[in-house]
Parts: sequence; C-alpha cells; structure tokens
Amino acid sequence: MLLTTKTAPTQATKYFSAQTLQRTYNRVATAQAALEIDDPTRDKKAERLSKGWLLFFAGDVLDSAVADHYYVRGSKGAVYAVTPCSCECGDAEHRGVECKHVVAVRCLRYARAAELVKQSAELEAQRLATLAKNRRLTLVRQEKTASA
Ligand SMILES: [Zn+2]
Repeated sequence: MLLTTKTAPTQATKYFSAQTLQRTYNRVATAQAALEIDDPTRDKKAERLSKGWLLFFAGDVLDSAVADHYYVRGSKGAVYAVTPCSCECGDAEHRGVECKHVVAVRCLRYARAAELVKQSAELEAQRLATLAKNRRLTLVRQEKTASA
C-alpha cells in the first residue's frame, strides 16, 4: 500500500499548518520511493510507512511525561510506549522491523521541528520588516530636519 493524496478527517490539522503537513507527508513518500524495488519486504515496509503517517495524521501519537517517549494508540484499542527508535509492539520487538508506531512518532517530531523552523522564519521576516520600517522613519525624520 503506497501513500495516496487521499486524506482523512484528522487531528493533525488542528496543530499543524497545511505546509508542515505537506512537508511531513512528502518525507514519508520520499522514504517509500527510496525502498529497494527488489526488496521482498518492500510492500510491508511501504505499508508500515503509510499506516504510521495515518496514525500521526489521526492524532494517535500522544506525549508522555518523559521527553522523547510517547504513547501511540494502535488498532484494537492497544496503546504502545514508543520512542523514535523503539516500540513494544510485536513488529518491533519480535520481528525487529521499524513499526508503524515508530513511524508515527517520527512524523510528529518531524512536523514539530518543521513548524518551529516555519515560525522562526516568520519571526525573522517580521523583524526585518520592522527594521526596514524604522529605517524609513529615521530617513524621513532626517530629511525633515535637513529641510527645516
Ligand atoms: Zn510498534
């Protein structure tokens, strides 16, 4: 199952801009595109990436009280303790693969980082606009003083 652009009702849209969600989605799609074509587990890996994205998108990744530790709501009501590189589910613990819960946590962390970068770029743009405005005011004042 590869990602499609079809979207579902979501929690993530409450917390992240469309731009950030698109970036996060693109990152997952890029990871899918990078899967080796002759890897016999390719479809399973692609599916876990898709499902991880959907868990993130649906708001099923929850913060815990401990930094870098999360809870991810899985199917059938199970809740897993997850870090960016470990999970207690069967896929991760017994099959040793990157499970959809880890993918979901990575999506959340990526989206948060992307949102911070976006916000800091916006703040910088505001700061520069204010500087430019103040500079214009100073020039106007100087011109008035000079012509007085
Ligand atoms: Zn897992």
